[in-house]
Amino acid sequence: MHFNRLQVLKNISKKSPLILSEPLVTSEIFGTHTFGLREMKNRLPKDSFVALQKVMHEGQSLTKDLAIVLAESIKTWALQNGVTHFTHWFQPLTGQTAEKHDSFFSFDGDGNAIEKFSASQLLQSEPDASSFPSGGMRSTFEARGYTAWDSSSPLFIVENAGTKVLCIPSVFVSYTGHSLDTKTSLLRSIDATSSAVTEMLNEMGDKNVKRVDVTIGCEQEYFLVDTQYVNSRPDLLLSGRTLIGADMPKGQQLEDHYFGAIPPRVQAFMADLETQLYRLGVPVKTRHNEVAPSQFEMAPIFEEANTASDHNMLSMEVMKRVSEKHGFMCLLHEKPFAGVNGSGKHCNWSMQTNTGVNLLEPGVTPNSNFRFLAVLSCVLRAVYKNQVALRAAIASHGNDHRLGANEAPPAIISCFLGSTLTQVIEAVSKNSDLSKITAEQAMIEFGMNRLPSIPKDNTDRNRTSPFAFTGNKFEFRAVGSSQAISFPMTVLNAAVSQSVREFTKRLKSKKSQGNSVDSAILEITREFFIESEKIRFEGDGYSESWRNEARKRGLAQLLTTPDSLEAFGKKENHDFLVSEGVFKADEFHALLEVKYERYIKHLMVESHTLMTMVKQYVIPAAQRYQASVANSIKAIESVGGVNATKNQRWLLGELSNLVEQCFDGLARLGNDLKSVNDTTATEKKATLMAERVCVSMSEIRNYCDKLESMVDDLEWPLPKYREMLFIR
Ligand code: ADP
Ligand code: MG
Repeated sequence: MHFNRLQVLKNISKKSPLILSEPLVTSEIFGTHTFGLREMKNRLPKDSFVALQKVMHEGQSLTKDLAIVLAESIKTWALQNGVTHFTHWFQPLTGQTAEKHDSFFSFDGDGNAIEKFSASQLLQSEPDASSFPSGGMRSTFEARGYTAWDSSSPLFIVENAGTKVLCIPSVFVSYTGHSLDTKTSLLRSIDATSSAVTEMLNEMGDKNVKRVDVTIGCEQEYFLVDTQYVNSRPDLLLSGRTLIGADMPKGQQLEDHYFGAIPPRVQAFMADLETQLYRLGVPVKTRHNEVAPSQFEMAPIFEEANTASDHNMLSMEVMKRVSEKHGFMCLLHEKPFAGVNGSGKHCNWSMQTNTGVNLLEPGVTPNSNFRFLAVLSCVLRAVYKNQVALRAAIASHGNDHRLGANEAPPAIISCFLGSTLTQVIEAVSKNSDLSKITAEQAMIEFGMNRLPSIPKDNTDRNRTSPFAFTGNKFEFRAVGSSQAISFPMTVLNAAVSQSVREFTKRLKSKKSQGNSVDSAILEITREFFIESEKIRFEGDGYSESWRNEARKRGLAQLLTTPDSLEAFGKKENHDFLVSEGVFKADEFHALLEVKYERYIKHLMVESHTLMTMVKQYVIPAAQRYQASVANSIKAIESVGGVNATKNQRWLLGELSNLVEQCFDGLARLGNDLKSVNDTTATEKKATLMAERVCVSMSEIRNYCDKLESMVDDLEWPLPKYREMLFIR
């Protein structure tokens, strides 16, 4: 074994689980680092508390007086908790979070040092916005951006390296009032959904519904790799995935990792992570091994969408930080290792009324099942009509590797419903005379009285579906593990809201024509089921036959990010985002531009990293081995063994060929990158990246991986898959 790898393994063998303290009682630590309900109640005067609740939950605006009281009490709380700085915590279009710390430190009128936190500091801040991408929306002469507290999301304290910072969840908008982040549009989409669905339910007769929440619970997959390996692999360090690395004899074929016993160092990491997250009010519930070796999953209890989104961003941050403490790098990349599963973020999605009803829960009464089917039909139609947008919403350089490969849902968007529900949908679709049917009759006729007990068990197992109904929610599985959920969820919310409005429009019209509410609901439900029929698919989403079938059905097949973004850029594919009030047209185009940019930049980093590795690690290792084989042949032949070197000469030939191919590949890649650089249009650059740079990269990888499997282990400096994935 190469001395570097040996050293790495020696270092790792000395590590033991980092057990931090006695286990803590979750209910005692939950939310202690948030300015949540408990703190508000204890610290604020009663009238301020009541007013704040109205701001947080009923959308009332925050008065200056309330902000002053609030800032004072937040400051006291923060100081008592050892906080020294505060920051507006926001989510720029990069899909990450951003923060700029300000100290509470200030001077009073007499020049004495004091701690100060004013209402305006709570409410608004102005980070140097020019360093965040705006998709060209903000010209440099007015590069001003403002963050403003999102009062629906609680403040929290982040602890890092013994220091504590108060984080104020914020939106980020430009001087002209355009959103520069992913939160603003999410909030708008939540509002759009709430008002659309409330109106529909009211129209259907459910007058008690005043508000509808979108609920989300996202299952977060990740890999843990020891930092010792990462430090010896430029690819993991810089791009979060292995750009080269030969297959190993044992991968995940035996499926012995899935749900297996959690390795001790990992378990210690998980416990630490959960403790941190509980303090921050993130309701983590499950943890387990995933299918690939060294792959794991964490899932919280579902929450209202905006909070769920903030909490997922926060979770990803905390995962990275805590993993470092435990000597791991937490890889959130969608495809860190070729040949084993990639990571996703299954976004479980539903809607809940202020009266506590989950609208995707099949009911027990005829009317609740009517409502369930109506909502279901809206979701199906939404996904069908906006499949391009949903596909594009999850497009990224990382997810391109995952969609379609190994257990990942394919790039074709379709919905899985399970056999029971499919039967019901088909029965409703086929029945052409619904004009006189009542809710009671429908229940019997369509087998809906059997609904409540069956779906949950038999729906979840189609892992090949990108969008599956799982009993009382949909699971959008194609979302990538490193992605912010805000944008995919925004698109989904807006799509649903659009179909729901259409439903309500037709309902009003049918009612005005004298139809009964029941029969009108059922008829529109049927129309929606029929309209969206092509999006339903129950079979194997990974199969070649599905690709052919999907083509026949005319479903979008957008295999790469540039393809998806190009389609998304067409007005008919994104107009609903504008008409639902979620994006202004120029905000949308800015976001699209940023998505293109991110794609190109990430692939630039990857391709340059690959070039460096091939030049500095792979070729030199192969050359050393070549020289040793050549010397061996020379030695044998010098003592007369001319006929005894046939195979060694073959080996030498193979090695030389591969090394030559590496050089040629590097030259090609260099040319590809040059043509990207010579191109000005962003769309064209991205397409070149997908069609040429990615192709050259995978060719080079192929040569490198062949070399890895041939070259003497003593000469190979880069940690191998079997080490990174199995030794910790
Ligand atoms: P499974 O995927 O096997 O059905 P769970 O039922 O535990 O597993 O759900 C997985 C995730 O879905 C969890 O985060 C859970 O909180 C979330 N979830 C459950 N019900 C809902 C809902 N009504 N809306 C959104 N997410 C939900
Ligand atoms: Mg699940």
